Amino acid sequence: MLDFIRTIVSEDLAEGRNGGRVFTRFPPEPNGYLHIGHAKSICLNFGVAQEYGGRCNLRFDDTNPTKEDVEYVEAIEEDVRWLGFEWAGIHFASDYFEQLYGYAVDLIRKNLAYVDSQSADDIRGNRGTLTEPGTDSPFRNRTVDENFDLFARMRAGEFEDGAHVLRARIDMASPNINMRDPVLYRIRRAHHHRTGDAWCIYPMYDFAHPPSDALEHITHSLCTLEFEDHRPLYDWLIENLPVPAQPRQIEFARLNLTYTVMSKRRLLELVEEQHVGGWDDPRMPTIVGMRRRGYTPEAIREFCERIGVAKRENLVDVALLEHAVREDLNRRAPRVMGVIRPLRVVIENYPEGLTEEFELVNNPEDAEAGSRKVPFSRVIYIEQDDFREDPPKKFFRLAPGREARLRGAYFITCTGVTKDPATGEIVELRCTYDPATRGGDAPDGRKVKATLHWVSAAHAVDAEVRLYDRLFNVEEPGRVDDYKAVLNPASLETVADAKVEPSAAAAPAGTRFQFERMGYFCVDSDSTPARPVFNRTVTLKDSWAKIEKSL
Ligand code: ATP
Ligand code: MG
Repeated sequence: MLDFIRTIVSEDLAEGRNGGRVFTRFPPEPNGYLHIGHAKSICLNFGVAQEYGGRCNLRFDDTNPTKEDVEYVEAIEEDVRWLGFEWAGIHFASDYFEQLYGYAVDLIRKNLAYVDSQSADDIRGNRGTLTEPGTDSPFRNRTVDENFDLFARMRAGEFEDGAHVLRARIDMASPNINMRDPVLYRIRRAHHHRTGDAWCIYPMYDFAHPPSDALEHITHSLCTLEFEDHRPLYDWLIENLPVPAQPRQIEFARLNLTYTVMSKRRLLELVEEQHVGGWDDPRMPTIVGMRRRGYTPEAIREFCERIGVAKRENLVDVALLEHAVREDLNRRAPRVMGVIRPLRVVIENYPEGLTEEFELVNNPEDAEAGSRKVPFSRVIYIEQDDFREDPPKKFFRLAPGREARLRGAYFITCTGVTKDPATGEIVELRCTYDPATRGGDAPDGRKVKATLHWVSAAHAVDAEVRLYDRLFNVEEPGRVDDYKAVLNPASLETVADAKVEPSAAAAPAGTRFQFERMGYFCVDSDSTPARPVFNRTVTLKDSWAKIEKSL
């Protein structure tokens, strides 16, 4: 079934509107890195264009020079490409500054705009409230010539910041506050990352956006719900400006995710106050953060498709995103063995100095992924959690006197435990192996209840492993008074001395693996061949599958 946006686009095509064209755009402001909410908008805009044989532009809404930067422009381009999309054209609202200025002059000529010299406080104070109309500015009836003159001098830099603004002359009594003579231009002496110091007046977003859309012949201008009340102004501008096309604005609900904040202002705060390591910290909901964590573009696109687009605000469970990541990685990530909290095991009846190699399949989900050789020797590591000296009732893994399988290798039986005499801590297990179980099965058909992952101590590579948990402790951190007070202090646990099999240790940054039984991991950019670093992308346990079952 088509969502409401695709329904509108289909109808427009069926009725021959816009000459059969579908042009969309993704319009980020380069004042921060893209987050998963932007991914929803990207998938929608580029997706609709692709599906209807149209085009989608990337347009930077760079009308606020004090907050914007080329660092963000470059990062946004990289993220859109990484998500798998290519724009038809790349544009900047700042490229239209001259045309936008001309449009403003045109509004003055039609007596639809005036220079207001009230202070910012007075403009705010005279705007009225939801229940009371606004009050006309004493400058509202300036003559066209006077407005021409003042606006030209605003541009020429004759006035201080804030001395005047240009406003549309619409209706100070409109029930819609956005229509009460909205500000179109303000004076702001700020260096712009593209236009430098060429301008000291800058158009407001609300004024720049509709004609920018029209200049690019955008047919469907898709934006989030908070712009619904701005649509009358959008339409007013399209109607009153001599623009070359009549784009239509359609609003959809933004993505909200549990345990996540999604406003760029807050994300910037987390970075600047060093609650996280940077925009690309793997705990961030940014595209760069998710990439570094090991999320795939396919998984993010699949997630966006599954959540769909609608008109009503809702809150999506972050478990659904993790579910999409897990499903995708299950298909594509090669399996390796990595022991996160190692426990040394000595196999006492295994020959000293012998190394065997076992052939293990790389991915049972993908026959083409082939197999690899994994070395085995007398001393190995298993996971501390896979052993209990006093096993509780439902613990089926290794324990004194008990037999378990080492994945793809042998059955071993625990014969003893060596403890640190000072602390009483277990430092090592003593085991025996059954040579007849080579490859992992007993010829006499006896069964074991557990299969453990392992690495050979002589061949293992020491690795750092970073285990991530949710960045926030509450479902809706955006709704509490101080979202920083609900940061999860345990959102990152660094394990310094994990052990991984040699084949995983040499992989370049960005390589994704499943550590058998432990989760999906991705080689971090801090990694070196001597000291690999792995980010846990997501655990194997799928809380979404449970939620889905209960629905
Ligand atoms: P934020 O509120 O996070 O600062 P923004 O809306 O100011 O975001 P823009 O750079 O203006 O950020 O956003 C570019 C596009 O992405 C806009 O069309 C916006 O509507 C859309 N977008 C932003 N956040 C979301 C979201 N959470 N879900 C869906 N679309 C979003
Ligand atoms: Mg915005």
